[in-house]
Amino acid sequence: MAQEELTPTPPPVVVRVALPVPLYREFDYLLPDATPAPAIGGRVRAPFGRRELVGICTALAPADAHADPKPLLAVMDTTPLVSAELLSLAGWLSNYYHQPLGEVFAILLPAAARQGASRRRTRTRIWSPLPGLDIATALQALHRAPRQRALLEFLSTQPLTTHGAILAAGFTGPQLNALAERHFIHATEVDTPPPPVANITGPMLGEEQAAAVRTVSASLGTFQAFVLDGITGSGKTEVYLRLIEQVVRSGGQALLLVPEIGLTPQTLARVQQRFPATVAMHSGLSDSERWSAWLACQDGSASVLVGTRSAVFTQFQDLRLIVVDEEHDASFKQQDSLRYSARDVAVVRARNLDIPVLLGSATPSLESLANVQAGRYRHLVLSRRPGSAEPPSFHILDIRGHTLDEGLSQDMIRVMQRHLDAGGQVLTYVNRRGFSPVLLCTVCGWTANCPRCESRLTLHRQPAGLQCHHCGLQRSTPHQCDNGHTTLLPVGAGTQRTESALERLFPDIPVLRIDRDTTRSQQRFEVQLEQIARGAPLILVGTQMLAKGHHFPGVTLVAIVNADGGFLSSDFRAPERTAQTIMQVAGRAGREARRGEVWIQTLQPDHPTLMTLVSEGYGAFARQELANRQRAALPPATRMALIRADALRQADATTFLTTLKATIGTQVQALGPAPAPIQRIAHRHRQQLLLLATGRAELQRLCLRIRETRPPAGVRWSIDIDPYDGA
Ligand code: ADP
Ligand code: ZN
Repeated sequence: MAQEELTPTPPPVVVRVALPVPLYREFDYLLPDATPAPAIGGRVRAPFGRRELVGICTALAPADAHADPKPLLAVMDTTPLVSAELLSLAGWLSNYYHQPLGEVFAILLPAAARQGASRRRTRTRIWSPLPGLDIATALQALHRAPRQRALLEFLSTQPLTTHGAILAAGFTGPQLNALAERHFIHATEVDTPPPPVANITGPMLGEEQAAAVRTVSASLGTFQAFVLDGITGSGKTEVYLRLIEQVVRSGGQALLLVPEIGLTPQTLARVQQRFPATVAMHSGLSDSERWSAWLACQDGSASVLVGTRSAVFTQFQDLRLIVVDEEHDASFKQQDSLRYSARDVAVVRARNLDIPVLLGSATPSLESLANVQAGRYRHLVLSRRPGSAEPPSFHILDIRGHTLDEGLSQDMIRVMQRHLDAGGQVLTYVNRRGFSPVLLCTVCGWTANCPRCESRLTLHRQPAGLQCHHCGLQRSTPHQCDNGHTTLLPVGAGTQRTESALERLFPDIPVLRIDRDTTRSQQRFEVQLEQIARGAPLILVGTQMLAKGHHFPGVTLVAIVNADGGFLSSDFRAPERTAQTIMQVAGRAGREARRGEVWIQTLQPDHPTLMTLVSEGYGAFARQELANRQRAALPPATRMALIRADALRQADATTFLTTLKATIGTQVQALGPAPAPIQRIAHRHRQQLLLLATGRAELQRLCLRIRETRPPAGVRWSIDIDPYDGA
């Protein structure tokens, strides 16, 4: 008895946990006796109602005698999984985008972590050709297996490539196994990661490139945001690589964020070649691959992470530089759950870490340029292409009163012929996929619409049928309209229609279509890219996909068939997006010795926006458009949030928003409720309320106040801060 009194039992401990539930609060649990305490930032398993959830410990406190919390089920990490830096970032995200902290963690952490995966990393597996293998003979033996052949070629130029890097470069496990079974390659396990920097020197930097590198390197170790504003092909990527090299050589890590579509095997190979300890993170990874990439960044064995949007949340041991390539790209904005902008989060993270962040683009967003104008971001300009490559010349084709052949004017067809005759390749940009965006009855005006959405169905030819591009609905092509007329006419041209028109007009020239429908198969896309790279005359037809990432040195003509309609759209960002698309597509032309031409068909040859863009360039356009936004009190001159509500009955969504609007007060301007740009998706009616304020603080206060509003049954609603789409 007396002895027991001498060793006092420690006071009970309460563990505060952020759980993935839609409530803006954390939950307290009792640490069971004899259980080691979790780390702050460690995972715990906790009972919640009838469920068991994995959450993150955010605080420990002595138990309050009056409260009686339930005990934790398990402590999973006694050392932090989430660093203090990431904890504070999560807090910022929760507060800024209005999402409960526990749900933020659920988005921030890889799925494997949430499911309780172990943090021990497997040893690095490295593949290389078998010593003494005669590569030429082996390659010949593989003439019937092109992917295996490509893989062996890859490994013979980059021996000692990690398993993850090979998968990231677009090869597969079965291909590796097949080559191993043929005794062409073998795997070895190593404890030491590959060297951070390979023995490869890049090209001599041009003057502007060197100046950009000098300026950013002078900022290493402090926070500063830079906009690297360089025309396509001006060598932005080379600037990134030089800066990453400095960081990595001195033992630090770098993060390179790229748009969804920009993370091609080619991009990755380019980075990997210079920095062998590179890992990739994108939507194509399995949960365990993503987890192992995350751990490699956390424990420092990866020096460089190349990733899409959500890679911005990765934890690093010693992150010293963040680069956002194509920072204007829409794919950096997440459109559901946590509606964050990876570009903006990158800047916030860089500020927290006191490191530089470099935002690169040939067409910087107006947000970033406004920050330059305000003196917050520094502007670095690359105005020339290296060597003799000149930027393309622009030409406007007035098609008012012209008869079009499936959307193509005779003038445009003649220009195409001229370029093909001269041995050039032609890139034709069309703003939508499918055959035609509207199927119209010429007798009664009926159009084929989606029964679940408000939108028109797109007619497709390969495979034939109608498709809803919003909800994915598919049905066969009708022979008559709802009123029994058989006078159905496809109106407007998508990529498939332009493709078939060009095949008819240029029967001797190969026509390659590149859009979301044709690039579903990575393999087919690679074959197309190879054919383009051979340089013989051909015609490319495609959507925005053509505007990103790829270099087409043989293209001498960029034909823009229907892009300028965007200048008329009601969406306030439409002119910016249209200008960016035109400049990005134009940037594919004339990379090599021959100067490229860009021809734009338009019904509005005198449109001031188009004129400025074409005659004075993107910078002049951006200044003019920023002034327009200022006058109209639109972002980035003001702060915007969008409140969306949807319900099966339109009145329910509208009534909810009207009630919400009544509580808003005068500091914030509320417009609406109004129908969303797509009024109905999958049977649900969508309404929205637009909030505008002069400063962030007012908007923030308002959203804090309303974010816990419970909607009536059947109504779903959300807050989108700094919305990108739909306003
Ligand atoms: P961007 O990222 O601006 O589109 P890249 O960095 O991809 O441009 O460069 C375009 C092309 O020019 C690439 O083939 C690249 O290897 C080459 N390049 C870049 N910088 C130089 C340089 N200083 N000297 C010679 N070639 C260069
Ligand atoms: Zn639909």
